[in-house]
Amino acid sequence: MNILLLGPPGAGKGTQATLLCQRLQLQHLSTGDMLRQAIREKTPWGRQAASAMERGDLAGDEIVLGLVQERLASSPSGAGHLLDGFPRNLAQAKALQDCGLSIDAVVELVVAEDVLVDRISGRRVHPKSGRVYHVRLQPPAREGHDDLTCEPLVQRPDDQPRAVRERLQVYAAQTRPLTAHYRQRLPGRVVQLDGGGTPLAVHEQLLAALGRIASTADA
Ligand code: AMP
Repeated sequence: MNILLLGPPGAGKGTQATLLCQRLQLQHLSTGDMLRQAIREKTPWGRQAASAMERGDLAGDEIVLGLVQERLASSPSGAGHLLDGFPRNLAQAKALQDCGLSIDAVVELVVAEDVLVDRISGRRVHPKSGRVYHVRLQPPAREGHDDLTCEPLVQRPDDQPRAVRERLQVYAAQTRPLTAHYRQRLPGRVVQLDGGGTPLAVHEQLLAALGRIASTADA
């Protein structure tokens, strides 16, 4: 099964992707994580993507497509994938179609803007592992430090207020239209879910929605 997970920054894509990949044994393909890793490792693609990401803009399509193709090529054959944060615009959606990866379900997490801003502004991460906390909703045991390594937590540069505003605008202009695009291309396989609940409540809704999509597809 290949699933696309869409949603604005702060909607909980990363959290839901992790839960779903554990549950359904899917390969987690997060273009945001791949780009952050490329930046940490100072690869040519990472260097090119860094400033756009810090501003809250999208990284270039050719960089993202290169990373995705590399990752798909190294996936075990027959594996299912959860695509988290990709595609982000129509050009990427068309390139994905050209890759020949068949999409079984498209899920958009919908969350009110004030909740998104609250979630993002309180988010802190452990850069090496990608572990994510929230200063109020999911605080670490020791303030400002990772639970497992005790290393300092940081705020992602693109979680700063100005970049967040830009990311929300980019999402509205370039990514949200993908839901209509996929509704037309994959009728019956697209679902919008309220992402405002607790991670486990959203996870249960997500599983139920995938079950419904699978049963209508089989019928
Ligand atoms: P995320 O971790 O999905 O919130 O992504 C963080 C940032 O990485 C985004 O704001 C973009 O700058 C960049 N990014 C992630 N995925 C893509 C993509 N598919 N296309 C372009 N830029 C991306």
